[in-house]
Amino acid sequence: MAKSARGGQNTKRLLPGKLFWLAIAATSCVVFALLHFIFGSISADTLTATTGINKTVEVTTLIASSIQMNFDVPASYQAKTIKYAPVPAGEKVIALTFDDGPWPETTESILATLKKEQIKATFYMVGQPLKSFPEIGKKVLADGHVIANHTLHHWYHKMTPLVAQREIEDTQQIIREVLNVETAYFRPPGGVLTNGLVAYAQKQGQSVNMWSVDSNDSHPKRPSPEAMLKTILANATPGGIVLMHDGGGNHGNTAKAVPQIIAKLREQGYKFVTVPELLEISSAGAEKVAKATDLPVGS
Ligand SMILES: [Zn+2]
Repeated sequence: MAKSARGGQNTKRLLPGKLFWLAIAATSCVVFALLHFIFGSISADTLTATTGINKTVEVTTLIASSIQMNFDVPASYQAKTIKYAPVPAGEKVIALTFDDGPWPETTESILATLKKEQIKATFYMVGQPLKSFPEIGKKVLADGHVIANHTLHHWYHKMTPLVAQREIEDTQQIIREVLNVETAYFRPPGGVLTNGLVAYAQKQGQSVNMWSVDSNDSHPKRPSPEAMLKTILANATPGGIVLMHDGGGNHGNTAKAVPQIIAKLREQGYKFVTVPELLEISSAGAEKVAKATDLPVGS
């Protein structure tokens, strides 16, 4: 009896304690559910509005790289190597291109200028730095620029067909994984056309893009922004492709020169296009010319 009564008393003593902990657990669950409901429902827009510009970039880059982008080549330019693209008279367009990035500071500085001036450019990315600086690569894409392939290692030497294939395809794989982009635009490092890379790119139907205006910014003695501007203005033509560098070393002078280059070319009436846009304009122009000359006699 006594034992049983003691047992009963023990049970009675324990019960309030258990209830207390049960109540704590239940309250925690309710609070947790409430917090989850409040913060879990925050949208990307709310996040952008409440956390400022850095978060804006993060959110947009996240969205940009979640959509697959294809940079295709117009039929008439597939498997072709070009230095420029002939455009119809009156189309005063030019393409700014940047090689060897993405790269800390320089790429972002150039991106800021292009965004301010509402210009889209073409970025020939090297696989290695894209792997090292994926977030900078994502910003390039998020800002609406064209992504192109500039090989994995930036080698100039003669390659076996297999090595050439790997240089291009491994880079495409990195571009695919980091940016969710398929690109058919290729530029051979150093403009070397005979080491096996261009042969492979053309076999794949890619557009091989050289340049008609070299800013000389990859010269070991980096030219001043003023010297770059002078070189570019002296060689710019409608349908031209301008070579500059955002990566592969210090290109602070290039970043400094870009605002002046844009301003002066604009003064001369140039509009800025990406390389795919340039090829579209050129192809459409060629069709017009073909149609005009194909008209039957007497019509
Ligand atoms: Zn390069």
